[in-house]
Amino acid sequence: MTQLGMAIDLERCYGCRACMEACKVENSTPRGAFWMHVFRFEEGEYPDTEQTNMPRPCQHCSEPSCASACPTSARFKREEDGIVLTDYDRCIGCRYCEIGCPYGVNYAQFEHPEDAQYGYGSESDEHNGDDTHGSGTFAEALGDEAPGEGKPPWHDPIHDKPVEPRGTQMSGPQPEGVMSKCTMCAHRQDNPERGQEGTTACAQTCPVDAIKFGDMEDPESDPNQHLEDKSSSSTFKLLEDRGTEPNVVYIGDEPGDDARTIEDADTFKDPQEAIEIEKNPPESRSTDVEVGQ
Ligand code: SF4
Ligand code: SF4
Repeated sequence: MTQLGMAIDLERCYGCRACMEACKVENSTPRGAFWMHVFRFEEGEYPDTEQTNMPRPCQHCSEPSCASACPTSARFKREEDGIVLTDYDRCIGCRYCEIGCPYGVNYAQFEHPEDAQYGYGSESDEHNGDDTHGSGTFAEALGDEAPGEGKPPWHDPIHDKPVEPRGTQMSGPQPEGVMSKCTMCAHRQDNPERGQEGTTACAQTCPVDAIKFGDMEDPESDPNQHLEDKSSSSTFKLLEDRGTEPNVVYIGDEPGDDARTIEDADTFKDPQEAIEIEKNPPESRSTDVEVGQ
């Protein structure tokens, strides 16, 4: 049996957040949604403090509580490789998965993807009703020069392909009204002709190779080989007492009881709040720069 997962080396991660950015570009996630989020913890008392950076994707659990909570079976675990996916055609946006998951990795899509992207909807809140072409400032500015025959720059045709085993949409720009989360870049795993099978955007982008992606059941896989190389370091999984059996293993010391997040993670948790801030920025954040100039 294959179970895709990750070993994430906290002794290497220095908190640059390139993985967050790569994931966002790869998966067309909306403003304020970070399928990969790097938490920054601080421990101790000044001046004797220590910082830990903890990248946190979906844990692609062996016993996913989000799937158990889903009333429509939209959230499910794919048998062939253990990835936990969201079937956008079945999702009704009830957010039960968000409540069922102890890791905070689920995001509600509040707007049409064209309006929810960075650079969209700031001047025109109404998308044009065409589900393949953009509206708003970026698309208008780029016109036919935009990549993909006039499509907006975030559109990657690989996401137009249905995802197996159901043959429905489970990757790419998330439709309005569904829940979404990390897919372990399922579109990469499912389209080997692109040469990206066995990779994820976050792992590929990390400049210090802190994220190792592969089959957790294969002793020769990248994550297991790295775990073996660092066998003298401590390891842990997140919230194991919840019985979810996560498939992300962390290398390094687990943040202790007095660890506190340096930023308030909640400010990233509500995409709608981020959208409102971009549409109506506080005066101190206003800018006269126009896209396309
Ligand atoms: S890209 Fe690598 S070093 Fe940077 S935050 Fe992500 S895991 Fe850490
Ligand atoms: S595996 Fe892919 S979807 Fe998941 S956090 Fe990394 S880049 Fe994002």
